[in-house]
Amino acid sequence: MSRREIPADAFAGRTAIVTGGASGIGAALGRALVAAGAHVVLADLDGPGADRTASATTGPGTARGAALDVTDAAAVQALVDSVVVEHGRLDLMFNNAGITFIGATEDLTLEQWNAIIDVNIRGVVHGVAAAYPRMIAQGSGHVVNTASMGGLMAAGLLTAYVTTKHAVVGLSLALRTEAEAHGVGVTVVCPAAVDTPILDKGEIGPFRGRDYYLEGQGIKKPVDPDVLAASVLSAVLENRSTVIEPVQSRIAYRLQGLAPRFVERSAARFVARQMRRAGARR
Ligand code: NAD
Repeated sequence: MSRREIPADAFAGRTAIVTGGASGIGAALGRALVAAGAHVVLADLDGPGADRTASATTGPGTARGAALDVTDAAAVQALVDSVVVEHGRLDLMFNNAGITFIGATEDLTLEQWNAIIDVNIRGVVHGVAAAYPRMIAQGSGHVVNTASMGGLMAAGLLTAYVTTKHAVVGLSLALRTEAEAHGVGVTVVCPAAVDTPILDKGEIGPFRGRDYYLEGQGIKKPVDPDVLAASVLSAVLENRSTVIEPVQSRIAYRLQGLAPRFVERSAARFVARQMRRAGARR
């Protein structure tokens, strides 16, 4: 996948918040935004990590870190308000923070279900509730929500994650139809595996995330987060609704529309294979 070119002044003077900005896709979005002239707050549960990432993010724009738990609605609102006080406006809200669990659904605790719903759904809702009214008042802005290919297709053994990401896709596509009348854009980001630390997080029992994601999506290498970030910024500039990367995922998504039963049977066979493999590790 080649990297899209974003003009150096494409986001000059624009203000942005990126949640989950300390690591992975959020950090890459920060780099791409600052390289294109934006003033960015990298907000993360890991506050010191967000500060470190911000210090390493240089360019014509600026970056600062902020400690933020996206499950805390008041804290998300306070961060949005602070950016508006500082810059007079908030142009871009990236609701990107997320967590995952990979494993058999019967092994998930209710605490894990609630945690993933809190971060992946409520976290996005809090970002929208805080930023979108401000953008309506400005008559401009763009909300970018990070979902996943798991928001468009069924991926067994990721059932809780898939639940939350389908919600994020639904929220984003519906909001987009309302937001247009206010001059506000909405984009939902649906990547397959991206090379970030999340690939090795949230493993339950003998399931291994990285192997699962690459084999399940038929890709040898995960997507480079910087390549994804450039693709996301290009979608914002063109006000496109959905980013699906890499191309194999766009093909798989098309195939699901054309041959849903075939895709469902393939997914079930894949899950059975993963379960056998995990069983051998027990
Ligand atoms: P990552 O683990 O590298 O980064 C996620 C960041 O979110 C971390 O810095 C973490 O501290 C932060 N975070 C977690 N809970 C938080 C909370 N309550 N409040 C604030 N910050 C919190 O993972 P990533 O791959 O960069 O993930 C970013 C987003 O991309 C997630 O929503 C993830 O679901 C999505 N995504 C990732 C992939 C992938 O393969 N990497 C694929 C599709 C979608």
